[in-house]
Amino acid sequence: MAALPGWRGLMLRRQAFMDRSHRVDISGLLAGSRQLMMVADEVRLEPFEGLAFPEPVKVELELHQADRMLVVEGAVDARIRGRCDGCLEEVDLAVHVEVSERLDPARGRDVDPFGESNVLAGARLDLADLAQQSVLSSLPMGLRCGSECRGLCAACGANRNTGECSCQPA
Ligand SMILES: [Zn+2]
Ligand SMILES: [Zn+2]
Repeated sequence: MAALPGWRGLMLRRQAFMDRSHRVDISGLLAGSRQLMMVADEVRLEPFEGLAFPEPVKVELELHQADRMLVVEGAVDARIRGRCDGCLEEVDLAVHVEVSERLDPARGRDVDPFGESNVLAGARLDLADLAQQSVLSSLPMGLRCGSECRGLCAACGANRNTGECSCQPA
């Protein structure tokens, strides 16, 4: 079998590090040839679950291996637009999510709270998936206009943040 031409080998190596879909190759870490990897990227996220992202999401991570686990530490910063799950008003929110996860490369999938996603598939860490999961985990009550949101009146649908409606209290 013929060897790959030099230029092609180069291209392959570059793509292996980080391709356009924001995947990071961590095989060097897993093989022990690298101790630490710093990742800084900006990821455009498609809208999901009623959340839109007017700006690229900033992902800054430090990766290392410990006890055969991939340790992921850092932060995800995102601006989120959507509707409050309580009162349906427009919300424009900046979130800063601290990331501190241990993922199991051997299982090809990760441990809580990234359970059902593909954040880690083999030696590929998917930054877009990680950003998406981090944003979701930062909104355990869904998107809210504020912690004091009183929601809508169940009887007449009035926004209870803007005043009392004339319905009887339940
Ligand atoms: Zn609200
Ligand atoms: Zn009412």
